[in-house]
Amino acid sequence: MSNLPKLEISSQKTSTRTTVEYEQLAENSINILGEAYREAPGLIRIQILGSRQDFLDVIGKESAPDWLVAYVPQNSASTIVLLDNEQNPLSSLMLSKILTHEIAHLYTNILNRELPDWVKEGISMQLAQQVKIRTVTASNWDRISPQGEPFSGITWQAAAEVNGYEIAGLILCFLFERYGMKNIFDSLKGYTDGSVFLHLQQRGLDDASAIIDKMKSSLIEN
Ligand SMILES: [Zn+2]
Repeated sequence: MSNLPKLEISSQKTSTRTTVEYEQLAENSINILGEAYREAPGLIRIQILGSRQDFLDVIGKESAPDWLVAYVPQNSASTIVLLDNEQNPLSSLMLSKILTHEIAHLYTNILNRELPDWVKEGISMQLAQQVKIRTVTASNWDRISPQGEPFSGITWQAAAEVNGYEIAGLILCFLFERYGMKNIFDSLKGYTDGSVFLHLQQRGLDDASAIIDKMKSSLIEN
C-alpha cells in the first residue's frame, strides 16, 4: 500500500456540506485507491465551489455541460475542482464516486501521465464503480474502433459521445480481470505513445490483435 497523501480541502460557504464531511469522503476514496496503486500523490488539493459561475471561472471555461461538476487540470497530480451547491446537490453516494474518480486521475497521472485519455478515464470509471453497462452495442463498438482497435483513429471527445466513458471502463475491467490490476498498472508504466495494446504485447501480455478479438467477442452484445 502506498503512503497516504496530505489532504487540503477548501470549500465555499455556499457548498452543501462542511469541510469535514468532504474530508471524510475524500479519505474514503484515498483508502480505496491506496490499495490499487503503488505510488500516491504527496498532496491532494480539493477546491469545492458552491456556485456554477465560480466553478466555471476557476476551471477557465465560459460554459460546460450541466453534468460537469468536477475537474482535474490536464496531467495534474494534485488538484481537483468540484461543484456542489444547493441548486444541484450531490448525494453522498454520487459524491463519493465522483471523488474516487477524480482522485484516481491524480494517481494515474503519477503512474504515467502519457497514457491516452481513454485509459485514464477507463481506470477512473472502473475504480469508482461507475460502469453501469455490461456489454457494448456492435454499432458503438464500430464507432469507437474505426481502425479496428478501440479508441484508435478517433478523438476522445468523439468517442465520449458514443458512450466512450463506459466502454473504456468495461475494457479496463476486462484487462484487470484477465491480467490483474497491479500487473496492468506495472505494464502501463513505460507507455509513451501509439497503441496501448501493442505496448501491452511488448510487455509480455497477449498478442494485441488476439486480445482485441477476445475483448470484442466477450463485450459485444449478441
Ligand atoms: Zn475522468
